[in-house]
Amino acid sequence: MKPTASVSLDLDNLWAYLKTHGDQDWVDYPSFLPTAVPRLLEVFGEHRLTTTVFAVGADVEREDGAKAVAAISAAGHEVANHSWGHEPWLHRYSRARLESELVRTEEAIVAAGAPKPIGFRGPGYSVTPELLALLVERGYSYDASTWPTWIGPIARAYHNRSVAEGAASDELFGGVSRVLAPVGAYRWRVGASASLVELPVTTMPLLRTPIHASYLQQLNQASPKLARAYFRTALRLCLLRGVGPSLLLHPTDVLDATEAPGMEFFPGMAVPSARKTDLLGWVLGELRRHFELVGTAEHVARARAAGLNRERDARRLESRG
Ligand SMILES: [Zn+2]
Repeated sequence: MKPTASVSLDLDNLWAYLKTHGDQDWVDYPSFLPTAVPRLLEVFGEHRLTTTVFAVGADVEREDGAKAVAAISAAGHEVANHSWGHEPWLHRYSRARLESELVRTEEAIVAAGAPKPIGFRGPGYSVTPELLALLVERGYSYDASTWPTWIGPIARAYHNRSVAEGAASDELFGGVSRVLAPVGAYRWRVGASASLVELPVTTMPLLRTPIHASYLQQLNQASPKLARAYFRTALRLCLLRGVGPSLLLHPTDVLDATEAPGMEFFPGMAVPSARKTDLLGWVLGELRRHFELVGTAEHVARARAAGLNRERDARRLESRG
């Protein structure tokens, strides 16, 4: 039997990228979901994949987002919570605002026809002890907001140079100590509870460099051969170290700059969408050759069933980077 791996998609929309980049055009909520979602569902269908899609409440409350969630759910994929406003500075929010980020998104997802979410991923990998407590309170099964990589602080330095002043944040992408967080699944201790499981976004075992699809697309822009060799190495290391990868995808993995106007700044957007979709198909095929692919809730359920001994105290999580 093959070991388990999961595939998840953060349904980050064009406006969310523009917003984080400090581009005022985001206020009109430009959307590339009608182009990206059918294309992604087609790739998933070709590989007979069941994935998890982390949806943003502000989109799901709007027509194209609701349509996307309905189509995703009808195709058998899990829909999870990716916050309402997709602001990567959740640690600045009050408890009441954090709660409304969760509740509004849950309500929009249910109104769009999908089951109430049991999984959460913070925008920009932001998560706080207070947020974890709310997830426990609201009956969530898992969080998937951590990204154990050393590239976070570097990405943050880059981001702070490239965005408009108001949006700059020394708290984006997690702090330096998160580099040492576990790569595999573990339990969060939140007060007396240890019911919430963390499923980190997998990074290259040992090296802790990113292996999510957008990073592979960035390598793809430099050299398709390099992107493939790098991902093969990642899978080999995952197999050797007994890590069942949780692979993260984004709509930009099947879109190019002509389909995402204003996102020319974003790595990998110069690659034509057909070539990107090609790489994504290859990545999923390689992953499927070695692992049984499921959504994140199922990945967590299997990790629980196998026994999760490792525990981390939520209070030790930095509330700011
Ligand atoms: Zn996101």
